[in-house]
Parts: sequence; structure tokens; C-alpha cells
Amino acid sequence: MTARILVVDDIDANVRLLQAKLQAEYYDVLTAYDGVTALAIAAAEKPDIVLLDVMMPGMDGFQVCKRLKEDPETRHIPVVLVTALDGRADRITGLEAGADEFLTKPIDDLMLFARVKSLTRLKVVIDELRQREASGRRIGVIAGAAARLGGQGGRVLIVDDQERQAQRIAGELSIDHRPVVESDPEKAALTARGPVDLVIVNANAKGFDGLRFAAQLRSDEHTRHLPILGVVDPDERPRLVKALEIGFNDILTRPIDPQELAARVKSQIRGKRYTDFLRNNLDHSLELAVTDQLTGLHNRRYMTGQLGALVNRAVRGGDPVAALMIDIDHFKKINDSFGHDIGDEVLREFAVRLASNVRAVDLPCRYGGEEFMVIMPDTRLSDAERIAERIRRNVAGSPFRVAGGAEQLTVTISIGVAATLGDGDHAEALLKRADEAVYEAKAAGRNKVIAKAA
Ligand code: GH3
Ligand code: MG
Ligand code: MG
Repeated sequence: MTARILVVDDIDANVRLLQAKLQAEYYDVLTAYDGVTALAIAAAEKPDIVLLDVMMPGMDGFQVCKRLKEDPETRHIPVVLVTALDGRADRITGLEAGADEFLTKPIDDLMLFARVKSLTRLKVVIDELRQREASGRRIGVIAGAAARLGGQGGRVLIVDDQERQAQRIAGELSIDHRPVVESDPEKAALTARGPVDLVIVNANAKGFDGLRFAAQLRSDEHTRHLPILGVVDPDERPRLVKALEIGFNDILTRPIDPQELAARVKSQIRGKRYTDFLRNNLDHSLELAVTDQLTGLHNRRYMTGQLGALVNRAVRGGDPVAALMIDIDHFKKINDSFGHDIGDEVLREFAVRLASNVRAVDLPCRYGGEEFMVIMPDTRLSDAERIAERIRRNVAGSPFRVAGGAEQLTVTISIGVAATLGDGDHAEALLKRADEAVYEAKAAGRNKVIAKAA
């Protein structure tokens, strides 16, 4: 599987070295020596992967990465940041800038090809998705769905008989995921047939052969598509090569860096969910019935059903439920000044921001027109208010890029917050309180959050 790779580095020798290595493996290579040129080439040539040096004069790698990820035209292109060997701080900044992968200098050939291969696989899937769903409207749906799915809350199966290492990995992952540890490969193979998003295998396990186990997963039709992340000793080069040949999707070397673990797990899970989304396209008609076409969020019909059920449960003594009613301020003006299409773009961008700023269990929905709702299970009024405030700040705080980045618009929203009161409450009453709170927020000058206690 070949790919076009854009190599960006201010040092000529580095560019040439990477270019030679990649071309030797039959990759097409584009090059740039500074950030501005890199952005221009990325926009014009749409490479499959960008390999980006962090330290460059002028616009550094983080800035370039951020720009690539902000532009809807280049957002889907995976970015590999090349950082200094001891680049922990760089990695955190890189993750925030939206980087998909990291490589440290000096670049290890095996690691380079492992990353490039795994990203190429993912990119092929994304491209297929984008092609099938060629119309802008459907890409909106996918962007929404992808943002909603993200790379969190994954079910991770750790197959390892080294108790201490397994528990440490599980401990790190339990912050964002649901890890389980299995030391017996036969039991693990059965578990992997169930609902699992990622398998982490110790390739140097004492009691079983980790590579054989991975090969077995690959040959079982139930587990063939599962991503496998291998943990390998860096000095065991032949095993590393073998692991990649067998089809490990990615490799972590010991000692395991928690930041790196988190980043790789997240990107594998995100990839798996994209792929699942593609495969499940058969169930598409079902999805359409509950999805808003413009934004990919849940539609009003779906929201109403869910809210009714959750509120009923809450008043019967279950967990409280909160709802945010969100109305974009002066949206008509956006339509009037920039046209209806730009208005649509704003709605889509807002949907992505909304979906990325709520938890996985929350239900962001388009209520109609420029009104949105978020249903929040197991949430109290004060917590919902805090989340609402965060969304409000995110929206008002950075302008929306529309018309392919040509225009920047400052958008603000007004949010009404309500939560279940207990006995005698019902969904319509909750909606009414949230709606009244929006009115109050508008009357109070807009760009505000108002919570309605009763
Ligand atoms: P306020 O701050 O009081 O909420 O002012 P507003 O202009 O946002 O509110 P108003 O309800 O007066 O106008 C909403 C506008 O949203 C009117 C309608 O044409 C527009 N609209 C509704 N649905 C869509 C849509 O799908 N796409 C676009 N572009 N515009 C839409
Ligand atoms: Mg309105
Ligand atoms: Mg409005």
C-alpha cells in the first residue's frame, strides 16, 4: 500500500534522509522546508500523511499542525510530529495541536515504517468514507459522528502474564477507557470475540508467545479486524520486525511512556471506530432516521424519545437528568450577511464543537433550525451549568472558520439549563424550563448561560 508523504523540516539533510528512506519503500515524497510552504503544499496536493518537524524557525511544527487540523480541507490528513528524544512536553503540546502520531529524533527506521503503515491503513479507510459520502452534507454527518465517537471510552483487552506491567497499563488506561487484563491467551482469544475495541499484547510474555497469539487473532474471522498494539523490548529487533509483519497495527517499546500509551491507544480506537462506521453503513437507513442530516447529530425525534425515558426513570428515583437548550445568537444576521450556505457551515462547525465538548454518554442533538440540545444523564443542575459555560466559552472564544478558511466569524450562543426536580416532573416541563432559561439569557444580553432551578 503506497502513500504520498509530505516531509517538513528546515534542515536540508534531515529532509533528504527521510526522503531517501521513504522512497526506498516506494512511498511518494513531497518536501517543504518551512511551515508556510508546508501548509500551501498540504492544501494543494492533499498528501496522505504529513511528517512534521517540531523545531523550525518562524512557524513551528505545532502551529503548522494546528492550522492543518483547523482547516476542514486538510483536517483528515494524519500528522506525525517529529520531536526531540526527550520530548514529553512536546508531546503534550503536540496532542493539543491535534497531532496523530509522534516520532523521536534520531528517527528509527522500523518505528518510522510502523507509524507510516498504520496511518496509511487508517487513511485509506477515511478516504473511502469520504469518497462514498461525497456530498458535503454527508461529510457533515461523518464529522459529527466521528467527533461523537472520538477515541475515548474504549474497551481495551490487555493480554499479558507480567502482572506488574499489565496492571500499570490498565491503571493508566482506566482514566479514559475500560481496560481488562487477561493472562491466559486462550481465554483472551474468547474475550476478544466479544465487544472489544483494542487488544494490547505483550510480545515478550513469559508464559505464551505473544506473536502467535496475535497471528491467531488475525486468522479468526471474529477478531480479524481488531486493532492490535504490541509491547516489545526495543533491543529485540527481529521480534519487532516480525510483529509488524504479522500485522500488529502499532508498537510500543519498553519502558512504556504513559503519554505515548494514551496517544497510541486513542488513535487506534478512533481508527477502529471509523472502520466500524464504514462497515455498518448497511444499517445506514436506521441511522438516518435518528440523525440530523446537516450536522450528523441526533435529531429531535430521537432526542425526544431518549429524554422521555430518562426523565421517567429519574422521577422514579433514578439518576437525575439535565438538559441544555442552546440557541445561536443573531443567527439570522449570519445568513443575511454571508448567505445560507455559510450559515449551514456555521451550524456544522458548531455541531462538531458541541459534540467534542460533552461526555460520551451525553446526547448532543439538533433541536431544529439554529437550536440545539444536549441531554445529560446522571447530571445535576450545577454540573450541567458548568459544562454549558465551558461550551459557551469555547464558541465565543475562537472564531468559526468558514468558506474554506477565507472568512472568520465570531459566533455566540445563549444556553438555558434545566434538570429533573424529582416527583411529578416530566420531560415537557423540563424542556419548558430550559426554553424559558434561554429566553432569559437572550433578554440578559445573549452570550450567556442561565440555569433554571424550578
Ligand atoms: P436570536 O439571537 O434572538 O436567537 O436571533 P436569531 O437571528 O438567531 O433568531 P431567529 O429565530 O430570528 O432566526 C433564526 C434563523 O435561523 C432564521 C432561519 O432562517 C435560520 N435557519 C433555520 N434553519 C437553518 C438552516 O438549516 N440553515 C441556515 N443557514 N439557516 C437556518
Ligand atoms: Mg432561534
Ligand atoms: Mg438564534
